[in-house]
Amino acid sequence: MRLLHENEGLRFCKHNLITPTYQEAGPLPTFGKRVMEKRGGNMKSPKYVYLFEEADGTNKKLLGGKGAGLSEMTHMGLPVPPGFIVTTEACLEYYENKKRLPKSLMEEVQINLKRVEEKSGKVFGSSQNPLFFSVRSGAALSMPGMMDTILDLGLNDETIEGLIQITSDGRFAYDAYRRFIQLFGKIALSVDEKEFDQILNKTKEKIGAVDDTDLDADSLKDICKHYLGLIKKRTGTPFPADPMIQLKLAIEAVFKSWMGKRAVDYRKEFKITPQMANGTAVNVCTMVFGNMGFDSATGVAFTRDPGTGENVLYGEYLVNAQGEDVVAGIRTPKPIQEMKKEMPKIYRELERVRRILEEHFHEVQDFEFTVQKGTLYILQTRNGKMNAQAIVRTSKEMVAEKLIDKEGAVQRLKPQELEQLLHKRIDPNFKGKPIAVGLPASPGAASGKAIFDADEAERVGKLGHQVILVREETKPEDIHGFFASQGILTSRGGKTSHAAVVARGMGKPCVSGCEQLHIDPKAREATIGNLRIKEGDSITIDGSRGEVYLGEVPTVEPEISENLLTLLRWADEIRTTGVRANADTPESAIKARQLGAEGIGLCRTERMFNAVDRLPIVREMILAGSKEKRAEAIAKLLPMQKNDFKAIFRAMAGLPVTIRLLDPPLHEFLPSAEELASELRNLKEVESAFSSMETISEAMRFLDPSFRESLRALDHMVADIAEIKEKKLDKKLIRKQQETFRKVQEMKEVNPMLGHRGVRLGITYPEIYRMQIQGILEAAAELIKEGVDVQPEIMVPQVCTAQELKWVYQLVKKVQKEVEQNYGIQIQFKFGTMIEVVRACMRAGRLAEVADFFSFGTNDLTQATFSFSREDAENKFLPLYNQRKILQDNPFEVLDVKGVGRLMMIAIEWGRRTKPDLKIGICGEHGGHPESVEFCHSIGLSYVSCSVPRLPVARLAAAHAKLKEKERKPPEKYDPDTTFNIFF
Ligand code: PEP
Ligand code: MG
Repeated sequence: MRLLHENEGLRFCKHNLITPTYQEAGPLPTFGKRVMEKRGGNMKSPKYVYLFEEADGTNKKLLGGKGAGLSEMTHMGLPVPPGFIVTTEACLEYYENKKRLPKSLMEEVQINLKRVEEKSGKVFGSSQNPLFFSVRSGAALSMPGMMDTILDLGLNDETIEGLIQITSDGRFAYDAYRRFIQLFGKIALSVDEKEFDQILNKTKEKIGAVDDTDLDADSLKDICKHYLGLIKKRTGTPFPADPMIQLKLAIEAVFKSWMGKRAVDYRKEFKITPQMANGTAVNVCTMVFGNMGFDSATGVAFTRDPGTGENVLYGEYLVNAQGEDVVAGIRTPKPIQEMKKEMPKIYRELERVRRILEEHFHEVQDFEFTVQKGTLYILQTRNGKMNAQAIVRTSKEMVAEKLIDKEGAVQRLKPQELEQLLHKRIDPNFKGKPIAVGLPASPGAASGKAIFDADEAERVGKLGHQVILVREETKPEDIHGFFASQGILTSRGGKTSHAAVVARGMGKPCVSGCEQLHIDPKAREATIGNLRIKEGDSITIDGSRGEVYLGEVPTVEPEISENLLTLLRWADEIRTTGVRANADTPESAIKARQLGAEGIGLCRTERMFNAVDRLPIVREMILAGSKEKRAEAIAKLLPMQKNDFKAIFRAMAGLPVTIRLLDPPLHEFLPSAEELASELRNLKEVESAFSSMETISEAMRFLDPSFRESLRALDHMVADIAEIKEKKLDKKLIRKQQETFRKVQEMKEVNPMLGHRGVRLGITYPEIYRMQIQGILEAAAELIKEGVDVQPEIMVPQVCTAQELKWVYQLVKKVQKEVEQNYGIQIQFKFGTMIEVVRACMRAGRLAEVADFFSFGTNDLTQATFSFSREDAENKFLPLYNQRKILQDNPFEVLDVKGVGRLMMIAIEWGRRTKPDLKIGICGEHGGHPESVEFCHSIGLSYVSCSVPRLPVARLAAAHAKLKEKERKPPEKYDPDTTFNIFF
């Protein structure tokens, strides 16, 4: 993430992972500077124009992707129509030169045009044997539809005669002419497109035509005349009939479109930096016509099926048609397999082309072709875009076919694409609109009945219904509701809120912070504007996008195929950064291991307190009035924790398990003050109602003793009331509620996230940490006795001073001694700290004197660095910050390299100065985010730890990071000897 300068324009670029100061401090190279440097003071003009056959087809930067492809295919001997490329350098020079074409450019164009004429046997501007061009843009990186293209360039009132002759189709020729005038008029001469449409519509009205296709040659000719008139009126000069002038203006127009709003916005959106693509090339290619009869055709093809990855020619074509007919949907194209029968020779040739393309590019290609009177021409090729499933299959098969190696295969699958395969998704064919949008807090889609509290969710779930738990926010006491639900929806809280973190841990979809949703738990309904969702109504959530839908929406199942597992194994062979899981239960530890975790990087012990049978004991511990009472509760918790630790250690035998001592403030385990106050109020009201009823028979007797019968009945009732009161309105119960309420009030903090939590809590309630340490070490001891390889790591949260860490360390040593004595064995374990407080980063050198390892808690560290509440920021002001580009990303999702990242670098540097072999990981949510994983790799973290479902993504991202590192130039590497250079 980074801050944007208002006037940034082209300077927009993705964060630089290794030298974060680069974009902030140094201005990016300007066009002129770059070109002049290249020239090195030599006044001779560079070469701006290359024939397809003479260009270096590997130089996409100079020729653009399209130009490079055309040139490469020409070298390979594939049938490409003759043409030339005006380079991206000419485009840069054009901008440097205040939007004037380089002086020598048109001379060069002229020379190359002559050669194309010679090759094609046609003449540009001739009325008998005319040559027409397509003029297309093409930057180093594909920006589909963002820049301009002009077809049939060279048409005028004379050359059209030639076109009529070669196509034998006057209607087609005039249609091409009117399209050309319109396109050229709009793009090169800036005449408003609407004015052309008005002329077209007027003519259609006049002759009663409904569609453009109803226009005959004469009406099209008439339209052309009016179009030419319009251009003269608007520009003050006649339409440029001279093909050379047309060509010059078209080249300029393509250059201009590089800085058009569409293109600039696209580059911003997709983070295309000048280093990735700088300027556009212009491809000038001889037009070939697929509409010259039934031996002509046009089509697009993939070298493999982009939907399934199957190794077959895939595509569609149209006989006697031009490309525009396909795009405009005028005619429905046929599947390419039909060509086997209809044009067998061409089909065989396409099969040959497919093989040659893949052998050359080592990648699935998406290519365009035209057949002109029985001759095949290839007009374009580029890497084929496929869905994730097809990428996985083709990667595996292309390695087997020796077209690519394992590294290449791993590189082909982007971590973001992999996400598609790991979670249930809304069916891509579903066209419905969401009723509300919140934060995509835990990926996957789920449908079910909207249920507004955890108890009801459990009840309804037990009846066999699918449930979506809908809450304003969740608390530990809702945990049984999580178990019973398919997904969680909250109206408050960010991506690191309780709901989000617990749902991710369980692998359940979650949409958090959906602020449009107003929940009324009492009325058991929610509203979104005028829309009312009553309890039991069916809803669907998409936790990958943060969307909420009404009703049950069709979904598609995730897929972890054998091919994907192979690819992930290859990723593991490549990566050098470890991948661990955030897992808190034996079940998720088992799942984590299956998904390739190399240990547990964070076991949040507070999650173990959340189980339905444990929460009352935890409350007992918190509410205990004396040390003895607290000790009793703790003694009950100890075996529970110990058994969990044992099961987790067993699941992770041979691998490290980092167990974090209790972190959250204790009041989180108690009911909310509001709920308690309302319950108490109710109890008191009932009590006083009962008391007044008890005196009713006496009152009646006093007023009128003659109602004997009624009084007898009343006496019975009063006796019953007294009994109910005795049983249900126990004074003790009220006192207990009052005590809980008092304790909750007492513990309540204004800023709980910055309050009495983590190690602070451990120091004020040492018996809790002592119990946890004992549980860990006894679990380890018992397993060691069984011969299990256990590798415990005890981690302390929220540490900001070495003294805190030392305090816990002496406690650990004391407990270790006792446990070792009791069990008669020695226990090996590591002791470490989370780094989630700014001061801890600054004091890392001292912390490393005590710690064997660090683990960055970047959820809290981000909160602390920005002073943004992790609970609130994401649905209060962050969306606006992102929208206004004040912040490029959500820092709770994408690691803020320039702030949080720098703090991490400082901590790593000082930590490893004290202890060179200090193991350092990350366990904040960023540990599973691909770009953040890349950063973590680049600063030398030993491992990343992420929620279980994200493990495959982290494994792949770590492999990508390693492969990218190989490509990176050495000077960009972070130099650990100069810590403070990161500030400049
Ligand atoms: C963190 O702060 O990054 C972390 C992992 O701890 P938690 O989210 O439990 O506060
Ligand atoms: Mg934390």
